[in-house]
Amino acid sequence: MSEREVRRTSEAESMEVAESAREKEWVSASFLKELFLGSFRLGLIHPAPQAPPPRPEFLAFHSALKAFLSEEVDPAAIDATGEYPAEVIDGLRRLGAFGMKIPREYGGLGFTQSEYDTVMELLGTVDGNITALLSAHQSIGVPQPIKMFGTEDQKKRFLPRCARGAISAFALTEPDVGSDPATLSTTCVPDPSGGGWVLDGTKLWTTNGTLAELLVVMARSPDTNRISAFVVEASWPGVTVEHRCRFMGLRAISNALIRFREVRVPRENLIGQEGRGLKIALVTLNTGRLSLPAAAVGTSKSLLEVCRRWCNERVQWGHPIGRHEAVAHMLADMAATTFAMDALSDLADRLADRGGYDIRLEAAAAKLWNTERGWRLIDDAMQIRGGRGYETEQSLAGRGETPIGVERAMRDARINRIFEGSSEIMHLFMAREAVDRHLQVAGAVIDPRKGTGAKLAALPRIAAFYALWYPGRWLGWGRWPRFGEFGQLAGHVRFVDRACRKLARQTFHGMLVHRAALQRRQAFLFRIVDVGLELFAMSAVLTRAQEMAARRHPHAAEATELADLHCRNARRQVRVLFGALWRNDDAFKYRVAQRVLRGEHAWLSEGIIGLGGPSPAAPVPGREPEPGRAHVDVQTS
Ligand SMILES: Cc1cc2nc3c(=O)[nH]c(=O)nc-3n(C[C@H](O)[C@H](O)[C@H](O)COP(=O)(O)OP(=O)(O)OC[C@H]3O[C@@H](n4cnc5c(N)ncnc54)[C@H](O)[C@@H]3O)c2cc1C
Repeated sequence: MSEREVRRTSEAESMEVAESAREKEWVSASFLKELFLGSFRLGLIHPAPQAPPPRPEFLAFHSALKAFLSEEVDPAAIDATGEYPAEVIDGLRRLGAFGMKIPREYGGLGFTQSEYDTVMELLGTVDGNITALLSAHQSIGVPQPIKMFGTEDQKKRFLPRCARGAISAFALTEPDVGSDPATLSTTCVPDPSGGGWVLDGTKLWTTNGTLAELLVVMARSPDTNRISAFVVEASWPGVTVEHRCRFMGLRAISNALIRFREVRVPRENLIGQEGRGLKIALVTLNTGRLSLPAAAVGTSKSLLEVCRRWCNERVQWGHPIGRHEAVAHMLADMAATTFAMDALSDLADRLADRGGYDIRLEAAAAKLWNTERGWRLIDDAMQIRGGRGYETEQSLAGRGETPIGVERAMRDARINRIFEGSSEIMHLFMAREAVDRHLQVAGAVIDPRKGTGAKLAALPRIAAFYALWYPGRWLGWGRWPRFGEFGQLAGHVRFVDRACRKLARQTFHGMLVHRAALQRRQAFLFRIVDVGLELFAMSAVLTRAQEMAARRHPHAAEATELADLHCRNARRQVRVLFGALWRNDDAFKYRVAQRVLRGEHAWLSEGIIGLGGPSPAAPVPGREPEPGRAHVDVQTS
């Protein structure tokens, strides 16, 4: 296959690859999994697992890092120059920051997920580039898959090196492989000289790629069509950084297009079993993606403080802007959202640390919810700061104002909705798990590939399951006096209890109505997931507030107020989502989109120059388009 030849796969093949890499078993409990099935098992998250008291070694690291970031890091300069200063990377190495997640016996700091994400939150208050450097290295880079799947020899060879500051990276994406790994075209073939494999291919957007000593690389065997994961030394012959990629934000990240030409990889650098590489990558991302929601919390906390001050300080129309209702409402929602993001991220971390809990849905939910809400919060912060929000720090400083980088925060945060699983892919991932039990029980009936015999054979099992399950989603006591220990918030807990039964019913009804087509009804499925997310976020917020009240936390009353506001907003949103499940313009909108794809609305863009140079939609000079006819060929595939 030539280098730019795209490996075309059918949708069925892509689904099959994704399905084969999916973790199918639910060995441990999951609150969200149960919630999607209409079972509100609050006991799984409440009382939240207690984080052990902060360890002195963690506190020492945290305060040393905080001092380093405050005194020796200039995030505006990192952004402006687009480079990490060498002394910043050296300083991080000296502190041990590259070994936070590496166990102590391998030379790391051995932090728990909660401790690590507390650091990510701190970094999120300062600089997205440093967050990306440390997170790509140890949330998804070599330490994480080696810790989870590596042999003892691999742990001894790689982990101490990484802890000392040998930077690593995770290379899955390729020019034609984004969300759909079935099209992965980097190959690994057995090395004819014996022992290992020979890698060929190109990886795109590898964060840390220009600095990394070690790379985790996913490649496909052309013979078995299965994907394996390898540790590759960046210094090996055949590995070349072809291009340093530059972005709207995160301007200093050392992100690269990397070419592998006949790279010889010894057998001992295979991670886990041969052919299990995609699963390894996905499992790595399961916990790896917990760092993004934590960093988003840090950014939100910083912006809330910026806006609190500015809303008091800035006077327009005779009042501080925070006294104008429109701005006041934004500020109130920012405070409630920040509290909720914090509660969600913290809960997911504690569940990950507790063990015996299947974190994959909660991690995806925390990533999706926090990065989406974090983005809206940044937009509100920019609105509140007005023109100063849009102005760069250098420009603000240049005319004597405090350099507050809201625009930098916005540029840096936008990617959070795209990488480590885009918001759409997180929705699909959660939707798949939300309907999993139904597919297990009734899949044969809705699967068009199954014959009548198989459908009939499945009926007794279906009848047995739904005869008990379905009435149970109607019955249940979600009214007063349940959940009295939540005090004035108890009504919200009861709402979650009722709404999750309704969610399960609606999911089931969706299956009956859409049957095999359900997998294509993304708008329907995404609303189901969004209701689940809202209910999960409400649960995290309510349990956090209750825990603070129970412990007589000095800010318990304020926390209750923020939880109350968050839940009022969320309940309104849940009602809208439930309504839109069955009253919507989904089919009409899809038809319009297909017409846009065919070029039927290309007349709207006539006369433009266009972002990528002259637009193909622009009429050819001297040849006026025929009225009423599309004159543009738009590829539909
Ligand atoms: C700054 C940066 C750093 C990165 N770091 C790394 C890294 O370290 N390692 C690495 O391997 N990769 C990295 N990536 C790649 C990143 O993970 C991908 O950008 C991401 O997976 C999305 O792939 P894509 O951009 O090709 O989008 P595509 O997959 O082409 O998707 C385009 C759009 O379509 C949507 N979409 C796709 N499929 C579906 C579907 N079935 N249903 C609904 N919507 C769909 C997507 O959500 C997206 O909105 C990085 C990217 C950037 C920009």
